Amino acid sequence: MLNGKTALVTGSTSGIGLGIALELAKQGANIILNGFGDHTGPKAEVEALGVKVGYSGADMSKPAEIAAMIAYADAEFGGVDILVNNAGIQYVAPIEEFPIEKWDSIIAINLSAAFHATRLVIPGMRAKNWGRVISIASAHGLVGSAQKVAYVAAKHGIVGMTKVVALETAQTGITVNAICPGWVHTPLVQKQIEDRAAAEKMTVEQATKELLQEKEPSLQFTTVEQLGGLAVFMCSPAADNIRGVAWAADGGWTAQ
Ligand code: NAD
Repeated sequence: MLNGKTALVTGSTSGIGLGIALELAKQGANIILNGFGDHTGPKAEVEALGVKVGYSGADMSKPAEIAAMIAYADAEFGGVDILVNNAGIQYVAPIEEFPIEKWDSIIAINLSAAFHATRLVIPGMRAKNWGRVISIASAHGLVGSAQKVAYVAAKHGIVGMTKVVALETAQTGITVNAICPGWVHTPLVQKQIEDRAAAEKMTVEQATKELLQEKEPSLQFTTVEQLGGLAVFMCSPAADNIRGVAWAADGGWTAQ
């Protein structure tokens, strides 16, 4: 379905980004990976699906590096047809103890990076009159949780930005939407589970159960494959007129 298209997935050396990259590649999309840590393993995994795979090590907190990544995509892949704004980090503390540099880096990576990548790919998408911008927000783009001031502010910002860019492209073949996952069992969440287990002197299994019980009525994690499947749907013709939505995939978290 996506043969001949190129998808740039930010923060795709791990977790949700890699899961989405794999599902898009299964549909034939060429993939540009981005993120820190080892990228050779993830690159080989996507390449095994028979598509062309590139990699950019751009630090998403740095606008100049984001611009260089988009220039690389233009030069090597003929542009970005599908942009998945996924790179993100978390930090947990009450506002009066929240380090200023953590606020700045969460806003830069979880929000401003999506602004920069999106503004740079829209002209190419307009020229082709086709494009998909899918931003991975969160249930925290729709509701708050204590101790996550920067993350919740950034994710609400993503949902707002999604609506605006969807309106600005409403009469084109470009759609702009957000996906709002609940808990997904990735390294980002594993750290929160381990911190909770240590703080409350319980096992990791008990901490995992409590984490789900607190927010997610299904008591199940959403999987990266499910999120990849949702991204694939958003790239399909059935989603041609879905614009500006913040689509919850959260086991009922925000239905409460
Ligand atoms: P993860 O830690 O497994 O992956 C994060 C990715 O972002 C990695 O590839 C990492 O290298 C990359 N990254 C981090 N900082 C970067 C930077 N400055 N520049 C470039 N890449 C950078 O996390 P995840 O759980 O897969 O999260 C992915 C996205 O999904 C995030 O935006 C997160 O907020 C969102 N999300 C996660 C959950 C969850 O439960 N895991 C729920 C809702 C939303």
